[in-house]
Amino acid sequence: SLNESNGSLNRSYNDISDHENGIYVIVRSRPLSTKENKASEPSIVSFPGNGRILVEGFQTIGGSNGPKSKLFSFNVVFEPAATQEDIFQYSGIKKLIEMAAEGFNTTCFCYGQTGSGKTHTLTGPPGMFFNKRIEPFSADHGLVFRSFMYLFRLVQQRQDLHFVLKASFLEIYNEKVIDLLNPGTLRKPLDVRWSRKARNFYVDNLFMVDCEELDDLQAVLEEGMKNRTVGSHNMNECSSRSHTMLTVYITSEQQISEDGVFITKQGKINFVDLAGSEMTKKTMINFVRVNEISYFSCSGYCIASLSDPKKRKGHIPYRDSKLTKLLSDSLAGTGVTLMIACISPARSNASETISTLRYAARAKKIKTKPVIVMDPREALIVSLRREVEALQNENDHL
Ligand code: ADP
Ligand code: MG
Repeated sequence: SLNESNGSLNRSYNDISDHENGIYVIVRSRPLSTKENKASEPSIVSFPGNGRILVEGFQTIGGSNGPKSKLFSFNVVFEPAATQEDIFQYSGIKKLIEMAAEGFNTTCFCYGQTGSGKTHTLTGPPGMFFNKRIEPFSADHGLVFRSFMYLFRLVQQRQDLHFVLKASFLEIYNEKVIDLLNPGTLRKPLDVRWSRKARNFYVDNLFMVDCEELDDLQAVLEEGMKNRTVGSHNMNECSSRSHTMLTVYITSEQQISEDGVFITKQGKINFVDLAGSEMTKKTMINFVRVNEISYFSCSGYCIASLSDPKKRKGHIPYRDSKLTKLLSDSLAGTGVTLMIACISPARSNASETISTLRYAARAKKIKTKPVIVMDPREALIVSLRREVEALQNENDHL
């Protein structure tokens, strides 16, 4: 494992595929906000290096024994000075995109309380998509746009493969799936169904856009971000309670022999901006909201049962949570997942910061077994060819 510390970044692992294929967990602390600085709020987080983060000088609720401290350890930890480009370079996202292009189901999700920087990390500062014209190479661009650029470069480099890219963008609000590329679904939410053929959950009638150029993906992002707020009176209120998921579907076709045998691989990458983690606790306060928050109770439960080998064999409690269903191919073990835990360094956010880091530490223990998604017949051809090659090699050595 690699130990590195350069002021804004320190990490313990270099490669997302190194980590025994568990969930790769990184943490980003945003800077103190202008408001927090004005109120002279102290920062309670520090960075001792090697992917560690120390939270100090916070009080626990009802705690009487003075300030507490806690040390956590993750794959990579980003200090407040880290730039959007730093996150892109060192988060493991590049490897994730490469794996998606190789046929894996991959997910990058941001978790954390409202205001901790989830949307900033994924798409950039608020208002980014409401300005007249977005600079092509703005330093503000988040992971999503940087990933699009990287993906297109990769597609252009691999002349031996033929790629087809499509994208969709949805929001889940109060267990209703809304197509952000088709705001008509505000009134008529879409259904989540099980496909027996693909052995996976999918959203019925979800709009999928063909993306031949980088501009097409950028348009999907812009359109969805604009529509995200159309249906709500208050943007913060809405985004604290809804999840969004932008998915890029990557099909690659490769001719593996002169006689016209093709292999088709079907990978994807989900970018998920989760609802505010603080919503978990409000469960008690308002019974009406219980529906909306079921994901969190479920996600906590899912994370717990997936990371505990004894519970893992049994039933995975997806219940009726739509998001958990849609992410099941990543969470339940066959995909590759990057979790970005976003935190605020301010003392007033201590209890949410601690709880986010605890969740993240739990997620790190989940073991998955990623597989390439291929047509079963083609998979058979590939394995037969491998066998033939192995036999030929054996013969060569006789
Ligand atoms: P969330 O989506 O988790 O609710 P936001 O991404 O909207 O939080 O961030 C809240 C505010 O903090 C925004 O104004 C955002 O631009 C700012 N912010 C978040 N992260 C950073 C960062 N790393 N650097 C500078 N500003 C940030
Ligand atoms: Mg947000």
